Amino acid sequence: MNDQTQILERATAAFLGLALGDALGATTEFMTPGEIRSKHKVHRKIIGGGWLGLKAGQVTDDTEMSLALARALVQRQGWSLPQIADNFVAWMRGKPIDIGSTVRKGLRMYMTSGCLEVPLNEWDAGNGAVMRMAPVALVTLGDSELLQQCALQQARLTHHHVLSDAACITVGKMVQTAICGCDRFELHALTRELTSQYPNFRFNKYQGQASGYVVDTLQTVFHYIFSSASFEECLIGVVNQGGDADTTGAIAGMIAGAFYGLDALPRSWLKRLDGQVRKEIEEITPRLLSLSPLARNL
Ligand code: MN
Ligand code: MN
Repeated sequence: MNDQTQILERATAAFLGLALGDALGATTEFMTPGEIRSKHKVHRKIIGGGWLGLKAGQVTDDTEMSLALARALVQRQGWSLPQIADNFVAWMRGKPIDIGSTVRKGLRMYMTSGCLEVPLNEWDAGNGAVMRMAPVALVTLGDSELLQQCALQQARLTHHHVLSDAACITVGKMVQTAICGCDRFELHALTRELTSQYPNFRFNKYQGQASGYVVDTLQTVFHYIFSSASFEECLIGVVNQGGDADTTGAIAGMIAGAFYGLDALPRSWLKRLDGQVRKEIEEITPRLLSLSPLARNL
């Protein structure tokens, strides 16, 4: 398999991994590990349900917003923040099954003011901007400076907080590094880059907090990425931690998908994943890569 094929496969696995984590984790969202144990023993199948009453394989806002962002890039054949904002608004107007309060507030502000950046806000340290990072990592592949700019721009449409900003950049870098083929030491080095600047994110003494607070979210994701040996094991660990399980699942899924590759995604999960979503991800991923600096430099 040549490099280009490997990159395409890992990129596809990152985007599909996000959707799989979302669909798997939505079942246990807002549950405690104890509640999950008594109901499922170990939650390891895509069965839907959860507080949203989903069909098996149905995805939520994490995947839907990522696709809305990805479509904007294809529509404009490159980065366009206004198009991304318009697609988010169109998505919100379509009455999504779920939407975060910070996301709603940010998009409302855009609708009334046309402003593409919400003001700095100490309450915006949720994980709602990080969950949309997969397409940003793909379209900026090959240029880490561009990744950082685009990560912050898309984040601040709805979230403006130093910890959200830092988390978006780190997750984007981890996805890109994994897509280009790296070992787990290189992946771990990126977490140390983050924790040296923001010690809040340290996860060596993981306490089991898996809320939507971006620090809890990334600690959960990092803990399971570095204490598991496969995509499946990582994702099962993450979603059985409960809390914001669909979003921790989505973020772990994009990193672990890129790291372990397409063949590591469980066939039974892929079969259950919403067919339309799977098809769109498989079609849009090569298009995003073709817009990236990496493709232009080939
Ligand atoms: Mn969600
Ligand atoms: Mn969530």
